[in-house]
Amino acid sequence: ALEIRNVHKSFGTREVLRGVDLTVRPGGVVAILGPSGSGKSTLLRTINHLEQPDHGYVAVHGELIGVEARGARLHELSPRAVRRQRTRIGFVAQSFNLFPNLTARDNVAEPLIAHKRLARPAAYERATELLAKVGLGDRGDAYPRRLSGGQQQRVAIARSLALEPNLLLFDEPTSALDPELVGEVLSVIRQLADSGTTLIIVTHEIGFAREVADTVVFIDDGVIVEQGPPAQVLTAPQQPRTREFLSKVL
Ligand code: ATP
Ligand code: MG
Repeated sequence: ALEIRNVHKSFGTREVLRGVDLTVRPGGVVAILGPSGSGKSTLLRTINHLEQPDHGYVAVHGELIGVEARGARLHELSPRAVRRQRTRIGFVAQSFNLFPNLTARDNVAEPLIAHKRLARPAAYERATELLAKVGLGDRGDAYPRRLSGGQQQRVAIARSLALEPNLLLFDEPTSALDPELVGEVLSVIRQLADSGTTLIIVTHEIGFAREVADTVVFIDDGVIVEQGPPAQVLTAPQQPRTREFLSKVL
């Protein structure tokens, strides 16, 4: 589903990604762990076209994102192609990013109306189904400020599902939540994993990564230090840097 090859990205003189390689098969569930500032969000933003790699490439379902190889522009997508690709990649960030002046249902319906050009009644019907899927079928009329953080994040997930993405990216989806609200959001993500959606999740929830991910990736200082099945990376890490990180967070 996703192929990342030798991706480099600098901001000014600071090289934030220093040659990242990662392959995610369709239906794969990848958990990305790593210290603050290691480049996790930058990697997700690169996959989602919010950043362009300086070198290397990202391909989603065989379609290149950005440019390839040492600055030579072998392939550059039209803005239209970028928009089309972005509609097929869902992104859920740490903060809930809902429109505060729209109800939960309107938040979920918005991409259906804007991108899929559904008529309002059809969009509302679909939005209600999506809200039901995240356990909020009866809260469609609520405005975000009337919802808990966990509920808001579940609305954000429902919205990210509206365009039926074939790849879903989560950037620390529970780190802004009170501890008692983390579980309800993780259980929605677990359902998505079980249903075969391709997921990449940046998380500090090690227990969740162990249970749900098929691959755990440890990134430090812009490189993937170690990757493999959770039983390997989390239980018997090979690299000293992985061991040191895990000893701090476990
Ligand atoms: P955290 O766990 O704190 O979210 P992270 O692993 O997601 O960290 P990134 O957000 O990818 O880290 O940032 C990596 C580095 O790149 C940081 O030093 C950050 O300051 C820098 N950085 C990120 N985005 C930009 C930008 N747009 N301009 C300049 N520097 C940036
Ligand atoms: Mg981050």
